Amino acid sequence: MSASGAERPLPLPDADTAPYWEAAARGELALQRCDGCDAWRFPPRPGCPRCGSLASRWERASGRGTVWSFVVVHGPVLPAFAERVPFAVVLVELDEDPRLRVVGNLPGVAPARVRIGMRVEACFETVADGVALPQWRSAE
Ligand SMILES: [Zn+2]
Repeated sequence: MSASGAERPLPLPDADTAPYWEAAARGELALQRCDGCDAWRFPPRPGCPRCGSLASRWERASGRGTVWSFVVVHGPVLPAFAERVPFAVVLVELDEDPRLRVVGNLPGVAPARVRIGMRVEACFETVADGVALPQWRSAE
C-alpha cells in the first residue's frame, strides 16, 4: 500500500497475455510472433491481423526502440498515482518492426525532457511478489 493509502492496480493476465507477464516477471520483454508470417504483434491476441493465422509463439524481443509518441499525465486517473504525477507515458516503436509499438512509463526521465525520437530500452519495475511491469529508460 502506498503512502496515499491507495492500492496500485496490478495486471490481470488472461490466456492471451499470461506469457507477456510471465516474461516480465523474469525481466524479459517477450512478444507474440505469428507462425504463419513471422510478424511480431502487440498487444497479444488470438489471431494475426496480417495473415489471419491462429498459430503463434512467444519470442524475446530486443527491448530497444524509439519514442514514437508520448503524453504527460498531470491529473492522476486513480488515487494510487497521485504521488507520481507528472509522469510520461510513452509509445515505443520497437527495433524489430516500425509498426510494433509498446506502451509504458519512462520513470527515470523528467517529463520535460521526453522527446519523440528518443532512444529507449526496456526495464522492469517489480510491483508485487512475482509481478513486474515493463517500463522504459533512456538509452542515450
Ligand atoms: Zn501472420
